[in-house]
Amino acid sequence: MTLLIKNAMVNGKKQSILIEGNRISSIGKVADKSGMVIDGAGKAAVPALFNCHTHAAMSLFRGYADDMPLHAWLNDKIWPLEAKLTAEDVYWGTKLAILEMIKTGTTFFNDMYWHPLETAKAAEEMGVRAAVSAIFLDFGDEEKAAHFRDEARRLFWRKDEFSPRIQLAVAPHSIYSVSRPTLAWARDFAKKHQARLHIHLSETEREVKDCVAKNGMRPIAYADDVGLLSERTIAAHCIWLDDDEIRMLAEKKVTAVYDAVSNMKLANGSFFPYDRLKNAGVNICLATDGAASSNALDMFTEMKVATILQKHMTGSPAAFPHGEVFSCATKHGAKAFGINAGVVAEGKLADILMIDRRQVSMVPYFDLTSNLVYSANGSVVDTTICDGVVLMEGRKVDGEEEIMDKADEAAQGLVQR
Ligand SMILES: [Zn+2]
Repeated sequence: MTLLIKNAMVNGKKQSILIEGNRISSIGKVADKSGMVIDGAGKAAVPALFNCHTHAAMSLFRGYADDMPLHAWLNDKIWPLEAKLTAEDVYWGTKLAILEMIKTGTTFFNDMYWHPLETAKAAEEMGVRAAVSAIFLDFGDEEKAAHFRDEARRLFWRKDEFSPRIQLAVAPHSIYSVSRPTLAWARDFAKKHQARLHIHLSETEREVKDCVAKNGMRPIAYADDVGLLSERTIAAHCIWLDDDEIRMLAEKKVTAVYDAVSNMKLANGSFFPYDRLKNAGVNICLATDGAASSNALDMFTEMKVATILQKHMTGSPAAFPHGEVFSCATKHGAKAFGINAGVVAEGKLADILMIDRRQVSMVPYFDLTSNLVYSANGSVVDTTICDGVVLMEGRKVDGEEEIMDKADEAAQGLVQR
């Protein structure tokens, strides 16, 4: 199967891209092979985006409870609904999330949520890539911990059933919601399977204070003490860090994930120390977090907010320039998850977006990444390709009406149940 993208702007030049199977086989003046052809006139080809920290099915909770203090929001609104979630709810909620991702140019998400098999099924069916996790959230309860260990084993037993687009990960929710023995078990289990370890780390000031009071050290130091930090660790948030912690993250080659919109909307009270982490050599990715906290999964919004927050807080308009923002949303994500994508180049996996240059936010066309980061939103994506397969063309995704109907039904049902 070949796919030819004809005469698009690719890496600053008008040229064509030939995709054979799931890879980009050549870029330039390529011979017209019989197969599917996409007219690239008026379009720019760019790498698809990586959303490196999500709770996809929480899209069901979009707009259900906003503008509340964090603990009341969780205790009174989110957790009671989550207690009623069925596997089918997660399936349709995840499909809703993936639909939004495809429509806004994201083809990989790193997820942490209940019923991970449903998440994997939704991602398989919709053609995107995902890291799907076995979750741990025991609050020190040994019975719960045993349940999560069983669930993790059950998920990983099925490892070979998934396509190469799906990778399995291990996700202890956070250092404050998971006991030390369970964190250690998750660490060993992830190591045994060479899986990524996905965790919320240093998200709130309370987490830091409680950790110091309980363990006599700050969260990153505690995570290091438990042995959680390695090049397979994906740490979401990382907004309350001192210099020693930044050094530890760099030394252990941890990937830090910046969730600007979520941090601001939940009023987490600090901001991601981008320059300090970058200068220390930490791999930095971007993410939306779940739609219950950030409401949208549009990585274009995330890119813009991520950089303007840095400029605002540091007092420097030169902070976090747009080229770096775009790299964090593409090749840094690919690096973190060992996926041979994140750039449009020969030999890479064909995870590509066709950007419509005739959308008003893309005119004039001085600088593509400036437009993508500062003026565009996800609606400039005309075509989304993942693994050599066209998932959206002309902004139409197969089955989108059904997904919206079923997800809406599931969300309304949850509230009424
Ligand atoms: Zn999260």
